[in-house]
Amino acid sequence: MDPLKQRIVLLGPPASGKGTQADRLSKTFGIPHVSTGALLRSECARETVLGREANEWTSKGLLVPDELAVRIVATWMQEHGAVFLFDGFPRTVGQAEHLDRALDHLKAPLELVVLLELPEQEIRRRILERLSCLACGATFSSSIHGYVQGSACPNCGAPLVRRNDDTEAALAQRLEVYNQLTLPVVSYYEKTALRILRRVDAGQGSDAIFAKIAVLVENKEGPANS
Ligand code: AMP
Repeated sequence: MDPLKQRIVLLGPPASGKGTQADRLSKTFGIPHVSTGALLRSECARETVLGREANEWTSKGLLVPDELAVRIVATWMQEHGAVFLFDGFPRTVGQAEHLDRALDHLKAPLELVVLLELPEQEIRRRILERLSCLACGATFSSSIHGYVQGSACPNCGAPLVRRNDDTEAALAQRLEVYNQLTLPVVSYYEKTALRILRRVDAGQGSDAIFAKIAVLVENKEGPANS
């Protein structure tokens, strides 16, 4: 049997479904899902020193400094090891280089980078309709699912909220940051000798996207990307 890919990065703009897909892949294949955004939100909610520092950036739709993002991921890897599905990391070329160095040191190379692609108009629609559960990480669309702020999360019962960066102003900033800082990460992985970047259309239904990524994780890829 082909071995599963065990070190995976999901890249994509805000609301491209990285978290939803990562969660589903994690449950199906038993690979731990790590969202740097969720780790940072948890630090903010607990009002730790790191959380207060991060909030200065996240609330404005800006990336936290590389040093802070790298620190939170390094701590996670020390505690959990080098099998992971990263969602939202790396987000800059500096972070990607750092991850490569850390994995080189462990002789455990990155095996798959999935880029979820979505047009800007659809990103905007999804973000402005998004309600999130800060307890379990689930997200819902107010127009599709009919929830309002404060509705109970159907998974865990915690109140659904609008994230403090899911606003028109922060979104414009996040898209600019994505285009300027994170898209170069795509080029970075396109250039590596490992040929591990794959593109998936994130405008399809969630099940179709999942099926496409699952084929990549299971190492049963056909000749075409989608
Ligand atoms: P996300 O939940 O992935 O949309 O992340 C929410 C926010 O957390 C981002 O807008 C950034 O402010 C911050 N963040 C998450 N991951 C990173 C990262 N790898 N580098 C810098 N900032 C990050």
